[in-house]
Amino acid sequence: MLGRVVSARCASAICYTSQALEVAAPPLTPLIERLVDALGADAVLWEPEDLAVYSFDAFSEDCLPAVAVLPRNARDVSAIVRIARDCGQPIVARGAGTGLCGGAVPVAGGVVVSFARMNRMLELDVPNRRAKAQPGVVNLELSKTAQPFELFFGPDPSSQKTSTLGGNVATNAGGPHALSYGSMINHVLGLEFVDDAGEVVRVSQDDAGYDLTAALVGSEGTLGIVTAIDLRLLRVPRALRVFIAAFGDVETASAAVSAIIASGTVPTALEIMDRTIVRAIESHYHAGFPLDVGAVLLVEIAGEPEDMVAGEAEIETIVRGHGALSWRSAADAAEREALWASRKGAAGALGRIAPNYYIQDATVPRTRLPQAVQRVEEIAKAHRLQVGNVFHAGDGNLHPLLLFDRRERRQVEAVVSAGTEILTACIALGGTISGEHGIGYEKRETLPYVFSANDLAAMGRVRDVFDVRRSFNPDKIFPSSASCAEVLPSRTA
Ligand SMILES: Cc1cc2nc3c(=O)[nH]c(=O)nc-3n(C[C@H](O)[C@H](O)[C@H](O)COP(=O)(O)OP(=O)(O)OC[C@H]3O[C@@H](n4cnc5c(N)ncnc54)[C@H](O)[C@@H]3O)c2cc1C
Repeated sequence: MLGRVVSARCASAICYTSQALEVAAPPLTPLIERLVDALGADAVLWEPEDLAVYSFDAFSEDCLPAVAVLPRNARDVSAIVRIARDCGQPIVARGAGTGLCGGAVPVAGGVVVSFARMNRMLELDVPNRRAKAQPGVVNLELSKTAQPFELFFGPDPSSQKTSTLGGNVATNAGGPHALSYGSMINHVLGLEFVDDAGEVVRVSQDDAGYDLTAALVGSEGTLGIVTAIDLRLLRVPRALRVFIAAFGDVETASAAVSAIIASGTVPTALEIMDRTIVRAIESHYHAGFPLDVGAVLLVEIAGEPEDMVAGEAEIETIVRGHGALSWRSAADAAEREALWASRKGAAGALGRIAPNYYIQDATVPRTRLPQAVQRVEEIAKAHRLQVGNVFHAGDGNLHPLLLFDRRERRQVEAVVSAGTEILTACIALGGTISGEHGIGYEKRETLPYVFSANDLAAMGRVRDVFDVRRSFNPDKIFPSSASCAEVLPSRTA
């Protein structure tokens, strides 16, 4: 978490500081009174100590909302939007707060809508392999619910034990298995959302005309508040194998990944971890990764049992031909799960090395991964920062974790500079500024690195169609700079 780096940018009146905590709780405002009347006192929080929970996400912290509301259904969300609009307050939707770009942080104060109580599965349609869920359902719960019917949900962000389907929709979340299953955009069949007028709207991929479902996916809570989600489910593969290949360095492992994809074989996952990450997770999880190597490649293949032997042989030949020092298969389902649990827990395991980490998210064409990783290491070294690399190599999606101590000003400044330099380096290699975490608050000033003023103006017009007042998650996605003035709303209501 970058913490106080962001707090300096928050509007001072709504920022959570130790000084602000000493001030007596403010009297109830008309906004809070109306919300209590509409939803009941147990659904509305306004004391600073309660609001602190809603002031941060996994990227940043310190911006208090005026009020947090916990709706039970779409009707409640409708009422919240209407009341907030009447009171001129911004609205920030919040899932589990695991977002890594400040998307759920109420930078401009206002109303946080938490989906903690809208966490029910609404429907499981086994014959049609579909499910309907409220946005507060945790990602992994969906697969657990579907498992008895040999179905599962494809997108599996490493945060899947915690992050919600609503947050996943809003960020177009991916994960290790996005390589073969795709990200959320490939699995959302329809949505129910509350628009800026407080109306409940339903859109579906089955609709003729423009695909408005797709417009909502990845919109980071800026176009509407999602209240129900129709999702595609996949059949559990009949056979699954996981392999570990060790390499002397990350560059060689990355070249092997390119060679696997170039061969026409598409495993279900191809994940790379460097020495720093492997050591951290081994000392925490003891999953059996080799320690004295520069990098580990985790490979998963899935399909029919009779295809497994040939699939393994083909990939083993490629990785050994590209410098693998060793290759072995996980013995059984228990070992496969242990390997995945430690891969997905990598960020947390870094707590053994440094008190804070900043996870960058950028993509490059897969063939440029070796150069990208080399640049990341050069940048970290120039800033005297330790870096760990764990990434969705099959997608060319880098996640360098810059380790630091946020109590050290030099380190915080170095992390901010290094993060921007990594983005610039990835763009120079033909990549872009986010693979899956989104833009949010963190990257809004870097959006013009990859989009022209005309592009941004076009995006701004799309936003205006859905939310002309810009009351849904303001200060997110779009840059604040004067050069982007044209993305500001053309009309105000
Ligand atoms: C350790 C760790 C590992 C991670 N691994 C991955 C990964 O592998 N892949 C990946 O893609 N991400 C990953 N993430 C990032 C994060 O988990 C995802 O972005 C996730 O989708 C956020 O879900 P959330 O419920 O926490 O949403 P939040 O953080 O609460 O919100 C995220 C955004 O969604 C909006 N939002 C939330 N609910 C709604 C709603 N109902 N309607 C409209 N907008 C809404 C918010 O306003 C915000 O803009 C990881 C994060 C951590 C901390």
